[in-house]
Amino acid sequence: MTSQRIITTPPGPQARAVLERDAKVLSKSYARDYPFVMDHGKGAEVWDVDGNRYIYFSAGIAVTSTGHSHPEVVKAIQAQAEKFIHISSDYYHELMVRVAERIDEIAPMKEDVTVFLANSGTESVEAAIKLARYATGRQRFIGFLGAFHGRSMGSLSFTASKFTQQERFFPTMPGVWHVPFPDPYRPVFPTPQNGDQGDAVVDYIENVLFPEALPPDEVAAVLVEPIQGEGGYIVPPPHFFARLRKMCDDHGILLIADEVQSGVGRTGKWWAIQHWGVEPDIVCIAKGIASGVPMGAMAARRSVGERWKAGAHGNTYGGNPIACVSALKTLELIENGMMQNAAAQGAYILDALAEMQARHPSMGQVRGKGLMIGVEFVKDQKTKEHNKPLRDAVVHRCFEHGLLTLGCGRSTIRFMPALMIGRELVDEGLEIFESALTEAEKG
Ligand SMILES: *Cc1c(COP(=O)(O)O)cnc(C)c1O
Repeated sequence: MTSQRIITTPPGPQARAVLERDAKVLSKSYARDYPFVMDHGKGAEVWDVDGNRYIYFSAGIAVTSTGHSHPEVVKAIQAQAEKFIHISSDYYHELMVRVAERIDEIAPMKEDVTVFLANSGTESVEAAIKLARYATGRQRFIGFLGAFHGRSMGSLSFTASKFTQQERFFPTMPGVWHVPFPDPYRPVFPTPQNGDQGDAVVDYIENVLFPEALPPDEVAAVLVEPIQGEGGYIVPPPHFFARLRKMCDDHGILLIADEVQSGVGRTGKWWAIQHWGVEPDIVCIAKGIASGVPMGAMAARRSVGERWKAGAHGNTYGGNPIACVSALKTLELIENGMMQNAAAQGAYILDALAEMQARHPSMGQVRGKGLMIGVEFVKDQKTKEHNKPLRDAVVHRCFEHGLLTLGCGRSTIRFMPALMIGRELVDEGLEIFESALTEAEKG
């Protein structure tokens, strides 16, 4: 028997009091889909301030990879806090070196890497953009429609997963060309014979974009998410990365994999791009790496990374020792079982959702790898018309019944629980999801 989930209809009185104060002093730019007010968490569960228990299928946007307050992570943070909390990157400390050594061990390229440490995803992307320009002496970039790379002016110039992210902020960084991301479910191009949408997208770049508009020898890098995150948990087809890699090699263009959401074991491998056996030149890391303590990292092949000189880039907080110990413990836990668990639970969830799909024609497509899983809702399986109202209703009903999920793309719900989640909570969460869906379908 599992304990009761909802004891006070949310938002309860304690939650409402916080919401009221929040509305007065916090930035209006925050977008919240439903009023969950955190009290505490443990593993893959969280409790709100009114005592309601929730299964946490979103893990703080794929951040709390080892679950909430894993005892070993907590112990490491506490011990480090007593030694020292900060020493800026003007100085040296051994934890920074160890984190970089660990990233070098697991990075998705055979060549050694050099690592720049930051505090967020967008900063790791900014570092990659700056290094790509510096190292190649080129200015332009290729990005993808539906991409999300962050909100600062450089990364924002690539971000294209929601209209509101760009609205009224232009000019962002100039020189970024967006092309469609290969979505096997919603192909933009006719799929070539003996090929897939990945071929079609790279054909478009090579046969249309390059000869007509974009000189390839002015392109510093292609920035791509191995699995599109905010854009809808879209898994590209088999040929895409091999073709993209070859195109980059042919023109001296760097390939930057933004693994901020898909990386650090989430998909059952250290890096999502490893599902396609392709090596990037630069990898951007954040979200899951330190179990919720802010940390970002940009790892570049040594031959690229050593091209910029002292003073070219830096920051105050990067390599923060609390973040470092949390990252080291997180990587150890993920390596010693959680990554395997992500693969196993993910396969189980994909199967269960496929079965559910047979009972719910509103589920247009189920897709994903490991614990990065998306369910896209449609009005009609044939026309594939997005069903955003249904998606939003399911997210709300889940919340009312004790399951926290998040949307992405135009009509997708994503499942991205902590990598340690067990079968029992998975089953409980899936049960809530299906009853929420059944209710939402009735309107
Ligand atoms: C979340 C995200 C970012 C931005 O990370 P922040 O820490 O919010 O700046 C960048 N890239 C991808 C793929 C992301 O999912």
